[in-house]
Amino acid sequence: MTSRSVSRIVTGLNTLEGAGFPVRRPFPTAELSDFDPFLLLDEMGPVEYRPGEAKGAPDHPHRGFETVTYVLDGRMNHEDSKGNAGSLGPGDVQWMTAGRGVVHSEMPAAELESRGGSMHGFQLWVNLPQRDKMMEPRYQEIPASRIPEAVSPDGRARVRVLAGEALGRRAVIETRTPIFYLHYRLEPGASIVQPAPPDHNVFAWVFSGEAFFGPEKRAVSEGKMVLFAPEGDEVAISTKDSPAQLLLVGGVPLKEPVARAGPFVMNTRAEVIQAFEDFQAGRF
Ligand code: FE
Repeated sequence: MTSRSVSRIVTGLNTLEGAGFPVRRPFPTAELSDFDPFLLLDEMGPVEYRPGEAKGAPDHPHRGFETVTYVLDGRMNHEDSKGNAGSLGPGDVQWMTAGRGVVHSEMPAAELESRGGSMHGFQLWVNLPQRDKMMEPRYQEIPASRIPEAVSPDGRARVRVLAGEALGRRAVIETRTPIFYLHYRLEPGASIVQPAPPDHNVFAWVFSGEAFFGPEKRAVSEGKMVLFAPEGDEVAISTKDSPAQLLLVGGVPLKEPVARAGPFVMNTRAEVIQAFEDFQAGRF
């Protein structure tokens, strides 16, 4: 087995999304447009809302990719044009395959809006291969209790397996192309080695504390994304004196052209224009 080295470190930018909720975004930015097959990562919050202050993303469309919402703290409600609705609380995951198109809203729960409270979570955008871009929309909504969790033998590393496999546990969520999506919580002195097949692009988003990456043990702290070099078949991550939390995400690149405008991600410009037309004509 060969441990992958760190090829690049990208700093997340603070920006506003939807109706104005704060996110920390490592990509897309001017520095990094995407990381095939991943199109976007937003960390929502962590933010402490006062009463009446919480904001979400009112009705908006998607076509051609998947949105993966993972809530750590707080509660958000979602609702779409086909009558699907649900609520995501701490630890819950929604893997939405937009396919040919959905129009949905993602809003803070009423109680969070009226009384205020904390919100923290993530949204990852996963591109769909050309053959799946116009598939029927599909939801996989998995409550926290069904997300597999594993602990390392020394008890210092815990992982929640949203997609793929880690520490012998396999995810319940199905992906269209091979993907792993792992949430690691590391105590001080933790050390993990995660298999990462050579055909996968792999990144880590450190959202709390500091951890050490690759055989070079490169120190990376909160708010930074680590891109691993393609050579090698596993990644090594450890902590020293302080704990850390991170998302470790990998996927096989699609290597297809990306034509992207706002909420539509297709292969050609003509397909994006078609998406705007279909949306405006109410065909979603
Ligand atoms: Fe959305």
